[in-house]
Amino acid sequence: MTRIGQHAIVIGASMGGLLAARALSDFYETVTVLERDHFPERDVPRKGVPQGRHAHGLLARGREVIEALFPGWTDEVVASGGRRGDIAADVRWIGHGVSLKTAPSDLLGLLASRAVLEGHVRRRLFKLANVRAIAGASVQGLIASEGNSAIRGVRVRIEGGPEQAMSADLVLDASGRGSLSPAWLEELGYIRPEEEKIEIGIGYTTRLYRRRPTDLGGKVAVVVAGSGPNWRNGAMLYQSDDCWIVSIGGYFGDAAPDDAQMFAAYAGSLPTQEIHDIVAHAEPLSDFASYNYSANLRRRYERLARFPENYLVFGDAVCSFNPVYGQGMTVAAEEAVLLQTALRANGADLAKRFFSSASVAIDTPWDIAVGNDLRHPQVQGARPAKVKFINWYIGKLHLAAQRDTHLANAFLRVANLKAPPPSLLHPAIVARVIWGNLFGRERDQNNAQPKRLAS
Ligand SMILES: Cc1cc2nc3c(=O)[nH]c(=O)nc-3n(C[C@H](O)[C@H](O)[C@H](O)COP(=O)(O)OP(=O)(O)OC[C@H]3O[C@@H](n4cnc5c(N)ncnc54)[C@H](O)[C@@H]3O)c2cc1C
Repeated sequence: MTRIGQHAIVIGASMGGLLAARALSDFYETVTVLERDHFPERDVPRKGVPQGRHAHGLLARGREVIEALFPGWTDEVVASGGRRGDIAADVRWIGHGVSLKTAPSDLLGLLASRAVLEGHVRRRLFKLANVRAIAGASVQGLIASEGNSAIRGVRVRIEGGPEQAMSADLVLDASGRGSLSPAWLEELGYIRPEEEKIEIGIGYTTRLYRRRPTDLGGKVAVVVAGSGPNWRNGAMLYQSDDCWIVSIGGYFGDAAPDDAQMFAAYAGSLPTQEIHDIVAHAEPLSDFASYNYSANLRRRYERLARFPENYLVFGDAVCSFNPVYGQGMTVAAEEAVLLQTALRANGADLAKRFFSSASVAIDTPWDIAVGNDLRHPQVQGARPAKVKFINWYIGKLHLAAQRDTHLANAFLRVANLKAPPPSLLHPAIVARVIWGNLFGRERDQNNAQPKRLAS
């Protein structure tokens, strides 16, 4: 592949930074990844990624992209105890208070602890001859050209030492949602990107439990997206052969308590008893961990009229959303593909091209996660007619998809970022939604066996 520069610097070595560095490694002689944490010797959660203690699963699109970037990666994760799963057949998805009917699909996701997923990406990346990593390296700010029209490098402190300059042809910020890019840009005379913030105040509480192969009838995950009346949500995911991870919580301070009995009672208030049954009866394998997810946050870099050359922002530093649909790592993977495309074109305005394509890719997961949050009556945010219609329609689709695997899989293809949202408005899908709502319920009533959570 054509080399377009000597040196690229990536700030942050979590999933976003690692995948961005992989994309850059095809185009720069050397890529340096600066991470303020130290990398753990074993695949265990680390301080810089506090969400790593909580349930993480990789959607189909994310798995495919990472596999393409690092061939054989899925097998390596599986060899470390992870598991492939058919997202439509092996996972119970509950949204709008009902369970989607399960059936085989080509949506192959990957389940393993967050640390295992990241650890395998990190090791594969650091094997590349032109990638180097510096741990304990905390980036303090940017170095700009005279007149601040371009970024020339970063100021970094390594192991608490004095600040030093490191120059580069490109700097990419993947430092997560706490990214200082808006402030750094402001210091250089640029305006901050517009921020869209949808406050949800979700407190997730997490615990690991002993897993038996017969649990959940062999299914490997339950995912509950919040819905009325209590809006509680969360996930129970396969972590390894003998371990489940359960992360559950509610909006605006309605966190699940970190007390065994109260946690079980809370799990019992979800619209399925499957998580409760494990929490109440299985052996706990960890203490409780908690995470407060305050708000969906999107920084609109694509709308800035002025932006310095040789600088990019990536992953959660651009956008992070309610993690219940498990989309963050997949969005980072998708952005890595878009970054490769933008670099391959090797023209001017790299940032403009990258941010505008990333923004289109972010629209779908943002609309799914934030759209569902906006159904909650206390969540503040604009609800234009389009959002109201989509939420109404997706609710109807879920009702029909309790019995219709075609509809269930169509929804999951969109949620897994494998199909665009308009695919759900295809006339054949709309017809099935109408049919399912008009006649499905009638059929249930005739059969006198209404089932809220049919599988
Ligand atoms: C509770 C929870 C559950 C989630 N579950 C899922 C899931 O199931 N599936 C999924 O796909 N996604 C999930 N996500 C989202 C996922 O964790 C992120 O989208 C993903 O980690 C990508 O983030 P990132 O690499 O951009 O940023 P982060 O993961 O936040 O990483 C930022 C990195 O930058 C480093 N850093 C920060 N500042 C500096 C600095 N100044 N200098 C050097 N280094 C710095 C940090 O130490 C860290 O390593 C979840 C998120 C949460 C909160």
